[in-house]
Amino acid sequence: MNDQQLLRYGRHILLPEIGIEGQEQLLKAKVLIIGLGGLGSPAALYLAASGVGQLTLCDHDTVDISNLQRQIIYRTSSVGQPKVASAKAALHEINPEVECIALEVRVDTERLHELAGQADVVLDCSDNFATRYAINRACLLQGKPLVSGAAIQYDGQVAVFDFRKMDMPCYNCLFPEDSLAAELRCATTGVFAPLTGIIGTLQAAEALKLIIGIERGLGGKLLTVNALDMNIMRSSLSKDPTCSVCGK
Ligand SMILES: [Zn+2]
Repeated sequence: MNDQQLLRYGRHILLPEIGIEGQEQLLKAKVLIIGLGGLGSPAALYLAASGVGQLTLCDHDTVDISNLQRQIIYRTSSVGQPKVASAKAALHEINPEVECIALEVRVDTERLHELAGQADVVLDCSDNFATRYAINRACLLQGKPLVSGAAIQYDGQVAVFDFRKMDMPCYNCLFPEDSLAAELRCATTGVFAPLTGIIGTLQAAEALKLIIGIERGLGGKLLTVNALDMNIMRSSLSKDPTCSVCGK
């Protein structure tokens, strides 16, 4: 690390669990973020500020005025621009050292496997179940840690599936694909703005610890947040031996 980096990341370096060694791991790390909406916005901002070496941003959408209530990486002047291009510019302003790869695409299964394979950690910040199941499969097969987040109305959740480890439950163990009656769409349901900030920020925190190898956190666990009662609960997940994705 050079002098500027020692200054920029000094408050991380002072933490015994991170130190110079941990910060150097962050500088070398590659994180894939799927979805640059309410969750992806704060997650990307904190990962860039923290000095994660490479961020790959995936989103096919353009910025809409209705996004600005919670998607804090964008400005009013961003409306109409591709989300990933606008986000990349914002991240560069915060930390020009971070290499940002902007992919303005809706990723298919094959591309997802390729991108997950290249990443050290994957953040699921998407807003639909089809994408969540596809990301879960890709991370499981590629053996990459997945930090899954969701937020709707006042309810949010974060779960970490560290597929570098044996016998880790997967997203499908938690929410089996075929058991879903109807899907609440974030596009058509209200969401409390700061809740997306809370969940996306928790995802960034878990990603940093996964990169550094800090074992404490949400590995194999689910954290649920209700922002109306401000009730936060953590529970352990168990692997479903009959799971259609990770079971034998
Ligand atoms: Zn499973």
